[in-house]
Amino acid sequence: MTRYDVAIIGGGMAGLTAAALAAKAGKRVVVIEKQSRLGGRAITNKKEGAYFNLGGHALYKGDAYDTFRELGCELKGGEPSIDAYGIWNGKLSVLPTGAGSLLSSPLLTWKGKMEFIGWLAKFAKLDTHKYDGVSLREWIEGQIKDPMVRHIFYSLLRTASYVMAPDLQAAGPVLRSLASALKGVLYLDEGWGSVVEELRASASRHGAAFRTGHQAASVFHQKGIVGGIVMDDGTLIEAGNVIIAASPAVAHKLVPHADSTSLKRWKDQAIEVTAACLDVALRKLPKPKQQFVYGIDVPVFLTNQSRAAKLSADGSQVVCLIKYQGAESDSEKDLRELESTLDLVQPGWRAEVVAKQYLPRITVCHDFLHVRDRVHPGPNVPEIEGLYVAGDWVSHGELLVDAATASAKRAVRHMLAAESRERDVIHGHRVTL
Ligand SMILES: Cc1cc2nc3c(=O)[nH]c(=O)nc-3n(C[C@H](O)[C@H](O)[C@H](O)COP(=O)(O)OP(=O)(O)OC[C@H]3O[C@@H](n4cnc5c(N)ncnc54)[C@H](O)[C@@H]3O)c2cc1C
Repeated sequence: MTRYDVAIIGGGMAGLTAAALAAKAGKRVVVIEKQSRLGGRAITNKKEGAYFNLGGHALYKGDAYDTFRELGCELKGGEPSIDAYGIWNGKLSVLPTGAGSLLSSPLLTWKGKMEFIGWLAKFAKLDTHKYDGVSLREWIEGQIKDPMVRHIFYSLLRTASYVMAPDLQAAGPVLRSLASALKGVLYLDEGWGSVVEELRASASRHGAAFRTGHQAASVFHQKGIVGGIVMDDGTLIEAGNVIIAASPAVAHKLVPHADSTSLKRWKDQAIEVTAACLDVALRKLPKPKQQFVYGIDVPVFLTNQSRAAKLSADGSQVVCLIKYQGAESDSEKDLRELESTLDLVQPGWRAEVVAKQYLPRITVCHDFLHVRDRVHPGPNVPEIEGLYVAGDWVSHGELLVDAATASAKRAVRHMLAAESRERDVIHGHRVTL
């Protein structure tokens, strides 16, 4: 039986990043993924020649972007223009995102336009950390004067985080995310599956092993020290360290006696973020200018990702629509709302459909940064030596995939530091002997 230095449960962005980093540091690594292929929520499906992510995905210039590049991943794609429309009262209007649209936008008064572009200019220099403990609603209502500018900011900040809870959401992290988005985001050629493959290749180059189609049944630990993973067929994968890169509920379930560890608190405090997603590949766009639309008084968003990324060989345009959800959702109603958004933005789209995908309620993120009494999870589970967590819910201030990669880095860094402390102790002991 092979003994590993690190066994990772979950082959999504967090697990793959941890695998690539630990393998690069010379560790013997194995990744266990229950699905038949790697990627988790970052997989891409090819339908009728068009690449569909699991809903519209944009890579911000944050931790994930930097980490992927450090690991040698090639990030092919393009930056979309931010010329945008807004939906208000059932009508489409140009948003004042640039000099050209400033005059033509009917949504705002002149004073409102000045306030709006003033905020866009201020964002890069804003000390967002000051607002980490303030709710998004408090920030918007306290800082923005014009009522329509407020509506637009609720919409922009919802799109940056997928969260529909302004009274609960911490303002600081999502303001940072919007500031980063305003510097430009990347839509990836052939979808996020291309980065999944790059990460797998990076980890493989350094010797990491992958077991796909195999489920971890529990984490083996004894006397407060981790010993490995018990698989669903009863076999034990021995490992000196285990990183759980799955949801907080799964992490809690996999660890025997988890109720007496921090995993219980992390699971209980997590608030899941979900969305309904409609993705369509269209032979052509009936209204080629209308490619990027924020719902201002409706919680929807539309983007044509093909305007910046290669997502089909034949020129089909991959348009992604998102309906942000609260605690309740109705799959049929959400689909109707998304289709009627498409009717408004791209009338006649039904005649152009090449392929279609509808995800009625998908988890975008297992937790978000909220102002309720929340502790930062991880990187280690303090009660069990050698046990770590990673994933988009293991956030110390980052959002979405940035939290997945940043938490993976923290876990690997903590693990390497703990090992080097151990070596120092052993070495010191030998010297004194
Ligand atoms: C609609 C949508 C839009 C999004 N848009 C963006 C965006 O624009 N920008 C952005 O940054 N992020 C976005 N995200 C979020 C991003 O996709 C996620 O943050 C990221 O993919 C999460 O990676 P992860 O590794 O933490 O989790 P996951 O991808 O969920 O990986 C966890 C893995 O663990 C596996 N697993 C679970 N239990 C076991 C077990 N017992 N044994 C073995 N394996 C197990 C699962 O199968 C899964 O593969 C979006 C997500 C969605 C759904």
